[in-house]
Amino acid sequence: YKNYMKLEFESKSQNEAFARVVVASFAAQLDPTIEEITDIKTAVSEAVTNAIIHGYENTTGIVKVTCYIINQELEVIIEDEGRGIEDIEKAKEPLYTSKPELERSGMGFTVMETFMDEVDVYSEAGLGTKIRMVK
Ligand code: ATP
Ligand code: MG
Repeated sequence: YKNYMKLEFESKSQNEAFARVVVASFAAQLDPTIEEITDIKTAVSEAVTNAIIHGYENTTGIVKVTCYIINQELEVIIEDEGRGIEDIEKAKEPLYTSKPELERSGMGFTVMETFMDEVDVYSEAGLGTKIRMVK
């Protein structure tokens, strides 16, 4: 079984809730448990928030969310063409944040890794970031 959807929206904070609801609705066809849906929403929310506040640093840009359903699994890809991440390993460390002044806790990647089965980060400074997650 295969299915696919693609969503594109402006990097505004009010679109974060929109994106997580769209992904959850798409995932509904897999007949997930409430807990699985909550996990997916939480992870999508973290990745989209990162694209908006770190990728575009609250300037206007486009965030793309692509979902695939293959073999009863959901794959979610969240992309921005923002500033990118210089040191991916450091960014993934629990409690690391480049914006402590905004009271970020540096737990976004840890949350994504906790709630999804696979999390891959592809990023290049100045070009953007792509997060691929599977559940
Ligand atoms: P929290 O998610 O707890 O509010 P945070 O966003 O700083 O805090 P993470 O989500 O774990 O923590 O991200 C860690 C760091 O990785 C960020 O502080 C930022 O420097 C960098 N980062 C994450 N996503 C992106 C992105 N899409 N573009 C550029 N930098 C990013
Ligand atoms: Mg974050």
